[in-house]
Amino acid sequence: SHVLVCGGTGCTSSGSRRIIEKLKKEIKAQGLKEEVGVVQTGCFGLCALGPIMIVYPEGSFYSMVQEDDIPEIVSEHLLKGRVVKRLLYDETTKTEDILPLNETTFYKKQKRVALRNCGVINPENIEEYIGTGGYEALGIVLTEKKPEDVIQILLDSGLRGRGGAGFPTGLKWKFAADNDAEQKYVCCNADEGDPGAFMDRSVLEGDPHVVLEAMAIAGYAIGASQGYIYVRAEYPIAVKRLEIAIGQAREYGLLGKDIFSSGFDFDIQLRLGAGAFVCGEETALMTSIEGNRGEPRPRPPFPAVKGLFQRPTILNNVETYANIPQIIVKGPQWFASMGTEKSKGTKVFALGGKINNTGLVEIPMGTTLREIVEEIGGGIPGDKKFKAAQTGGPSGGCIPAEHFDVPIDYDNLLAIGSMMGSGGLIVMDEDNCMVDIAKFFLEFTVDESCGKCTPCRVGTRRMLEILEKITKGQAVLEDLDKLEELCYHLKSNSLCALGQTAPNPVLSTLRYFREEYVAHIVDKR
Ligand code: SF4
Repeated sequence: SHVLVCGGTGCTSSGSRRIIEKLKKEIKAQGLKEEVGVVQTGCFGLCALGPIMIVYPEGSFYSMVQEDDIPEIVSEHLLKGRVVKRLLYDETTKTEDILPLNETTFYKKQKRVALRNCGVINPENIEEYIGTGGYEALGIVLTEKKPEDVIQILLDSGLRGRGGAGFPTGLKWKFAADNDAEQKYVCCNADEGDPGAFMDRSVLEGDPHVVLEAMAIAGYAIGASQGYIYVRAEYPIAVKRLEIAIGQAREYGLLGKDIFSSGFDFDIQLRLGAGAFVCGEETALMTSIEGNRGEPRPRPPFPAVKGLFQRPTILNNVETYANIPQIIVKGPQWFASMGTEKSKGTKVFALGGKINNTGLVEIPMGTTLREIVEEIGGGIPGDKKFKAAQTGGPSGGCIPAEHFDVPIDYDNLLAIGSMMGSGGLIVMDEDNCMVDIAKFFLEFTVDESCGKCTPCRVGTRRMLEILEKITKGQAVLEDLDKLEELCYHLKSNSLCALGQTAPNPVLSTLRYFREEYVAHIVDKR
């Protein structure tokens, strides 16, 4: 048997490192040293229930494991093969025969593509990645495909950018490939900054090699020999695992010169971001990598023409890259068979707010919000009523109960006034005030506006002042008109996406919950 223990940020903060140490000691003390492997993995998804452990061969999923539980796990389960039922993760698994993990309530409706190795392999060991088919896609690409074939595969797969905007990845690569230049660059946006979002962090912590492999594939497809990963310095576990992964990939000849004896050279460097939200915007990110203050620049020229150091550049986010090696190995039709007509594949969401199973989930596109909240998420605590869910963080909007059954994909979310965003999904119940929610996100954008252009720098402040007036009961009805007017002004006149999308939380709460704004005003009178 062997034991997997989550070493992602969530479980690390709830004590998984101590659990691993104690487990190793106890295994030794009870004389089992040789037979049991203890593997530290990435995130399993159920972050609120950490530390989490899976014991094989049974696949028993133990949650909230404490140091005091370890002697019993070793003596009962590892020595005698008797599952410790009280530690199984939910009521259904405690009473039934042990369910395979993918049949339990949390996992049943999920489909793990981007997260396929998270919680499965030791992310600090390249051989475990290779053992699950890692670097096979790079081998196929470098030995069997021309760059244009790789781009065609991505176009056929229908993969769209998972960072938020949903631009077709193959098309982005094609634009960069079509530009002749001696030097081009491949960048990875790991500057995840939405409040409550931790999708990219979990992929980097749980499966860093998948990003390196996909970036090398991108380099081959567009003709670039250098990659950069721009990752938040606040993600120390992700940074450490990326450093280890880059070192191992170089050692195994999977980064560097003449990879797979194909004549193709590609290497990757890390750049640490200091935590400015605007540096997730592509041109600001590139300006920051260049060593300057991270401020957006006007587009056009687009990065595919003049990006990093004025050279053709592609930038994709972590989750987008995490899909690519499997698309190469399993084929574009396999990927396109999942999801909806215009949104293929799966999407990872960080599920938070008023929800029982806070954590990381990956669902096929087209899953409804109801399935996510009621089934995967285990419902709302205290049997409260669902009111709305915010997707897309400070750039997104809310989905009210009337759209609970809309299949989630890029286009449907836009049509109902929200957006996919990078994957933050915050659930609100009947007790939440929607004006407060809008104010919360606007406070965030006021703090994070870089100040380069006036509509955003001044406009977000004026909007926040009006929202504060409303929540203090000092506003009049005309203030709502002013607020709306400012929203449209920001949307059409801001330089970058931060300002252009900052009004979305206000606009969508005004659209669906205008009566709550009015109630604040009327109450005061
Ligand atoms: Fe900076 Fe905001 Fe203008 Fe973007 S929209 S450039 S964040 S001030």
